[in-house]
Amino acid sequence: MAAPADASPCPTCTGAGYAVEQVLGQPARARRCTCQSACPRCRESGYVLVQQGNESVAQVCACRHLDERIRLFNRIGIPAAVAHASFETFKSYSPDQERAKALAQDFARKFRGDAPTKGFLLYGKPGAGKTHLLVAALRYLALEKGVGSRYVEFMLLLSDMKAGFSAGQSHMDILKPLLAVPVLAIDELGKERGTDWERSMLDELISRRFNSGLTTLFATNYFLEPQALPEQPGPKRWNTKSPDFQREAESMTLGQRVGDRIYSRLHEMCDFQVLDPGMDLRKDRRSGNPFYR
Ligand SMILES: [Zn+2]
Ligand SMILES: [Zn+2]
Repeated sequence: MAAPADASPCPTCTGAGYAVEQVLGQPARARRCTCQSACPRCRESGYVLVQQGNESVAQVCACRHLDERIRLFNRIGIPAAVAHASFETFKSYSPDQERAKALAQDFARKFRGDAPTKGFLLYGKPGAGKTHLLVAALRYLALEKGVGSRYVEFMLLLSDMKAGFSAGQSHMDILKPLLAVPVLAIDELGKERGTDWERSMLDELISRRFNSGLTTLFATNYFLEPQALPEQPGPKRWNTKSPDFQREAESMTLGQRVGDRIYSRLHEMCDFQVLDPGMDLRKDRRSGNPFYR
């Protein structure tokens, strides 16, 4: 896929062979770079003739791997906001971020499709780069290794299921594509309300994947230990939309949000890594790239 050594790299894709498009509101899409449009080996037919004994046999040209990998990338469902997230574009400002990047990168490099690979779970405040690293790992798997994956936000998945019910679909219709994909990344874990139904859906999804030896990655804003919050004067109001309730929910631990059973399953499935930048990077980045989050 890289440009020949005697040519200078393509300015559009710097030799990667593909370029990623970012359109707000749509999942990230990769396309074959124009520098790759004319394959000298197969002249765009996608096949080359290979001599086998006395006969020549048509064989898929190596350039078609690129199309297959682009197809895998386009099926991940990467949000437009992080369309360009990769290990190369991840900026570390803290030792936590260095460790998290190393963990995600190590995972992606070592991933094997033929043996169970332990996943990772990133936790910490919003804006630290958890989504970026999830997506970077999925991007690497698709484009560098030809491994398929999906990215989902758990709340949106639940909404899809509820919408599916109204359309006469069962929850399995929605879950099925997520049960067989080699790697699944679940973002915003614990943000759901935590009803018995929501927990049973999460339990079914991750337990089935675990039992099939498939890898699941997670990111969550909830910490493992209770977080100290500043005391608020006055009585508490238990309105779910009130600031008091929001603060109370934020102070909960991941274990409290997802329940003991799922929490211990997560430990079996994943290495945990905190990702705390020590400041709100989202605010800092807002001034720069408007797509960043
Ligand atoms: Zn190019
Ligand atoms: Zn070709």
